[in-house]
Amino acid sequence: MVDHTDPTLAERSSDTIFGAIVRGEVAADIVYENQHCVAFRDVNPQAPTHVLVVPRMPVTGLQEADEWESMLLGVLLRAARKVAEIEGIEESGWRVVINVGEDAGQTVPHLHLHVLGGRPLSWPPG
Ligand code: 5GP
Repeated sequence: MVDHTDPTLAERSSDTIFGAIVRGEVAADIVYENQHCVAFRDVNPQAPTHVLVVPRMPVTGLQEADEWESMLLGVLLRAARKVAEIEGIEESGWRVVINVGEDAGQTVPHLHLHVLGGRPLSWPPG
C-alpha cells in the first residue's frame, strides 16, 4: 500500500527523468498521451518500435502499486495497445514489458511499460 502523504516516495518517483518528461520540463518524442499517461520513444531503442508508457501519477513501480494504481495499470495497458495501433504493429505483434527491481534491470523508479515491436522478438528474454 502506497502512502501518498509520504514525501519521500513522492520525491523519489516524481524527481526522476520520467517525472520531468510527464511534467513537460524535459523534451521527449511523444507518440501518444491522455489524462493519465504519456507515451514517448525510448532514448535507447531495442526494437524499431520501443515506446515507454508512463503514468502522470508518480508511482515508483509495480512493486508499490496500491488498489487505485492497480486499476491504473489497465489504463496503461490500453494506452500500450493504442501505441501499437499508432505504430502499425498491432497485427504483426508486439510485447509489453515492465521491469521490476534490480534483477529485472529497472533503472528508473517511476512506473513504466515498455512497448516493443517491429521485428521478431526472441523468447525467453535475457
Ligand atoms: P528500465 O530499465 O527502468 O525498465 O527502463 C528505463 C528506460 O528508460 C531505458 O530503456 C532507457 O533507455 C530509457 N531512458 C532513460 N533515460 C531516458 C530519457 O531521458 N529519455 C527517454 N526517452 N528514455 C530514457
